[in-house]
Amino acid sequence: MDYPGRIAAVVFTQGCNMDCWYCHNRELIPVARTDSSPAAEHIDVEEIFDFLCIRKGMIDAVVITGGEPTLQDGLADFIKRVKDMGYLVKLDTNGTRPEVLKELIKSVDFVAMDIKAPLSNVQCTMYNVQLKDNSNNVQCTMYNVQLKNNKSTGQLRDKIRESIDLIKNGGARYEFRTTFVPELTKDDILEICREIAPCESYVLQQYRSNTLSADGVQPPNRSGELTPHSAKHILDTAEEVKKIIPNVSMRGL
Ligand code: SF4
Repeated sequence: MDYPGRIAAVVFTQGCNMDCWYCHNRELIPVARTDSSPAAEHIDVEEIFDFLCIRKGMIDAVVITGGEPTLQDGLADFIKRVKDMGYLVKLDTNGTRPEVLKELIKSVDFVAMDIKAPLSNVQCTMYNVQLKDNSNNVQCTMYNVQLKNNKSTGQLRDKIRESIDLIKNGGARYEFRTTFVPELTKDDILEICREIAPCESYVLQQYRSNTLSADGVQPPNRSGELTPHSAKHILDTAEEVKKIIPNVSMRGL
């Protein structure tokens, strides 16, 4: 699942410029770790290369995920070293940094990008994310909000669109994927698909309730759990998606 059809090692990177309330890697959201965090044990990069050296022939690929990997300085060099060892590389991204993605896409084999919500549906307010700069300052609270004239919201939408185009035309294999959170409707999913079509593949991921609060990082604006969409609803939605993007799959059902 981490790298379709391949056995892969997964590298998690610290720091994300979003704050999705349903994130399952919340301990990775802070850009700077806190030493008191139970998740503060970071691995030296050379340990990763030692690991990969020992496992040559046993694994095929390295998946770089997060957090948001494109925030990492030195990512291009890291990817080059991994590629030079003969591994395939898959990059996971939220698509907010096309200026970085533009360079990386030439050297990776697979890109998976989250599409959190329809970019054009200003009535949909579920996209409760925060875009933060490298100093952890909130620049924008949502990219899919009703504030049509919010400048940073518009800029972020443009960046997401730019990343979508880069990925579709970049030459690497790719998938776009959406976590079908309870606040998204079938119509929202279909709108997303119309926005990204035509594309190679689309994945609908089941939402799992989030009980993580490591590092004192609580899911924002959510006091209770929401009921996931039923498997039947997700399957029905996928059938509709197929009419727009034939290669659709589901995860987590
Ligand atoms: S973009 Fe991904 S890693 Fe970042 S907060 Fe959202 S779900 Fe978590």
